[in-house]
Amino acid sequence: MSKDYYEILGVAKTATEEDIKKAFRKKAHQYHPDKGGGDEAKFKEVNEAYQVLGNKDKRSQYDRFGSAYSNQAGGFGGFEGFGGQGFNINMDDLGDIFGGFGDMFGFGGSGRRKRSQRGADLEVGITIPFMEAVFGVEREISFAKTATCKTCAGSGAEPGSNPETCKTCHGQGKVNQVQQTMFGRIQMQTVCPTCHGEGKVISKPCKVCRGSGQQRENVTMKVKIPAGISNSEMIRLTGQGEAGEKGAPSGDLYIKVHVTPDKRFIRRGDDIISNISISFPDAALGTKIDIETVDGPVTLKIPEGTQSGKVFMLKDKGVPKLRGRGRGDHLVEVTVKTPTDLTRKEKQLLEELKNLK
Ligand SMILES: [Zn+2]
Ligand SMILES: [Zn+2]
Repeated sequence: MSKDYYEILGVAKTATEEDIKKAFRKKAHQYHPDKGGGDEAKFKEVNEAYQVLGNKDKRSQYDRFGSAYSNQAGGFGGFEGFGGQGFNINMDDLGDIFGGFGDMFGFGGSGRRKRSQRGADLEVGITIPFMEAVFGVEREISFAKTATCKTCAGSGAEPGSNPETCKTCHGQGKVNQVQQTMFGRIQMQTVCPTCHGEGKVISKPCKVCRGSGQQRENVTMKVKIPAGISNSEMIRLTGQGEAGEKGAPSGDLYIKVHVTPDKRFIRRGDDIISNISISFPDAALGTKIDIETVDGPVTLKIPEGTQSGKVFMLKDKGVPKLRGRGRGDHLVEVTVKTPTDLTRKEKQLLEELKNLK
């Protein structure tokens, strides 16, 4: 049965949107079944014609394919007619309601296929002594993580069986849902309730992971901690975190390094600082002192007349630079001890010294 929607509404093929709207209102008034002299069949026809011609896309499709289009009623993806339920709305608003309706419900827009989730990042702490942070170390760490199930290789299906195409959505991951509203039936797309959007269902779940495709695993691995790492710094191992869902990439593993302090050294960036105390005569006359560095003892020459608070630099005896080449320096801060609890002899000598000046 072929229908000419233009004829039904009584407009020319060249009619404007406004003409079509006007014609529809007029005809809808005329045939409304609640009115005396109304005609339900005609009313439905008018309504059907307006749904097509009142919509720019549908109208151009109709113009191209003609009445063949009316055979695939589902293809209009919207109303399926008024179906004879009670129908009471202000006829003057009719056109506007229909015009805006499709936009309001966003036909066909929802129901996106679900994407598998990337695994979570994982953080593991490790504590190392000061000297290992300076020169680097290889350490073994153990921790538990979510890994890909070894039995089913992450598919979640029992070995030998395969996930099957979902029968509810035929692998589309989404389904059309028809809803009753006061305006008639509306068709909407939603995520498939059977497969939750994956398009596949597991008929025989893997016995080890119960279909999740994942299992907890204790991992022991060696980690290279680079020379020069500082306290609280992180090492990132890409893809070593928790396994992703069903073949999605794993998260990253972060190793947080805690460095225990060393009584002998203070670290400031790549430099190391230590303090020494020297006697007043050594400061005045000069001396040589063995200084402990991270490379072992180094002899430092204290020149005569050294003041308290003076800083000497032992070049390149600091921490290797984590990013870049070379090393920091070792800075030695000198404190001159002022003598206390002097003996009589010492006091006498200091008095003599004082009087010489
Ligand atoms: Zn499994
Ligand atoms: Zn499905």
